[in-house]
Amino acid sequence: MTTDPITRAVACNLCTGCGACAGAFPDVIRMVDDPVNGRRPVVAASADGCKAAAAAASLCAGAAVDYTVLPRKDAIDATWGPVLATWIGHAGDDEIRHRGSSGGAVTALALYALQSGLAGGVAHVRAREDDPRLNAAVISRTRADLLRGAGSRYAQASAAEALGAIAVEAAPVVFIGKPCDVASVVKAGVADRLAVTIAVFCAGAPNLVATDRLLTRLGVPEGAALTDLRYRGDGWPGLMQASYLAGGTSHTTPGLSYAEGWGNILQSERRWRCRICTDHTGAFADISVGDPWHTPPKGAGEAGQSLIIARSEAGRRLIEAAMAAGALVATPTTRDVIARAQPNLLASQGAVFGRRLVMRAMGLAVPQERGLALFPLWWRLPVRQRVQSLAGTAKRILRARLWRPVVVKP
Ligand SMILES: Cc1cc2nc3c(=O)[nH]c(=O)nc-3n(C[C@H](O)[C@H](O)[C@H](O)COP(=O)(O)OP(=O)(O)OC[C@H]3O[C@@H](n4cnc5c(N)ncnc54)[C@H](O)[C@@H]3O)c2cc1C
Ligand code: SF4
Ligand code: SF4
Repeated sequence: MTTDPITRAVACNLCTGCGACAGAFPDVIRMVDDPVNGRRPVVAASADGCKAAAAAASLCAGAAVDYTVLPRKDAIDATWGPVLATWIGHAGDDEIRHRGSSGGAVTALALYALQSGLAGGVAHVRAREDDPRLNAAVISRTRADLLRGAGSRYAQASAAEALGAIAVEAAPVVFIGKPCDVASVVKAGVADRLAVTIAVFCAGAPNLVATDRLLTRLGVPEGAALTDLRYRGDGWPGLMQASYLAGGTSHTTPGLSYAEGWGNILQSERRWRCRICTDHTGAFADISVGDPWHTPPKGAGEAGQSLIIARSEAGRRLIEAAMAAGALVATPTTRDVIARAQPNLLASQGAVFGRRLVMRAMGLAVPQERGLALFPLWWRLPVRQRVQSLAGTAKRILRARLWRPVVVKP
């Protein structure tokens, strides 16, 4: 097996696909959309490639994370990362609220940061225009561009690939990404280029195979030119829906419910790395945002609500300033709300200790992580789930032959 640490992270299933290594060294590391393995980096087979990969290893949160650097004061912080304060709310702008994944809080906060002069741009992902199955990391500077990125993309995407662009921006930017994207950007040591970081909660990113399966289920004919693919938004939680050109006319498919699209099609294709993820809510971000599932919507198109967490004083200041300006409408709630809203993420996190135990026993590499007490979370699971985390992992390793090095196919 290769000794370059980035290719090794990919080969050993430690890579999350954040894109930070390629963003920092775009000349010799590029992200490739592998339909099965996800969007993953490929390092040039040259001395420069090896040198860049060695340097990029220090910002790779897929391979190593140090939670001890986080200020944590109680059991809630120990489980979820720093939780200074929590709110339930939504964008003050009705269009942003409607287009957003939950309540449009992420887009509203980013737009307020732009308009108030706190940031000169917003680094985030949005669907590629030439192929909406895929996503690109971009820097948005207007409300219209931000809105084009609103709504979760349950697909492979590498938000931290914007790292190179962030480093040369004239003014600090807002960075939006999944928890693993934020963790790598924070490790990259570009704090003076970041106005604030915002993480979306994340149960795992499905691959391109899952996206194609969704398109088939939506009824997009093979060979049709896809013009739009939406996973969330246009109400809470919104419908999954695609538009395409066929026979010279534009068509839009009927919508598929979030429960069916995520539950029956997408989630089974999450990569193994996501199943051993220890940060589903963005512990390293200034602000994290997810769905308040404990007060679920009654229909697909209900006006949305977001669960908003301030994790740092900078995050709290932005949230409170956005509320004072009417950009965000939110009500404070108690800090224990995350466990109530996200029992699935708590269970996923709990299973990680058991899964990694079996991986180690079977000789597989696991991420190097300091400062997380995974055993108590596992021990608190019902016995059946504990056993499942062990037996299910052994079965999965054998069935998927997870000991075989992942080789990325462009
Ligand atoms: C793969 C995935 C899994 C998720 N799982 C959960 C979950 O288990 N529980 C939960 O509560 N919430 C989950 N979310 C988050 C949730 O769907 C909403 O994104 C969140 O509530 C924010 O909503 P909003 O309306 O405030 O955001 P919006 O205003 O709609 O803004 C969303 C922002 O997220 C960015 N974004 C969208 N997709 C991606 C992506 N794939 N990678 C990086 N950035 C992206 C967009 O660029 C946009 O800026 C998940 C999101 C994703 C992408
Ligand atoms: S920096 Fe990100 S994309 Fe690169 S190897 Fe690490 S996890 Fe993968
Ligand atoms: S589950 Fe974790 S590793 Fe997977 S995409 Fe989400 S934040 Fe990244």
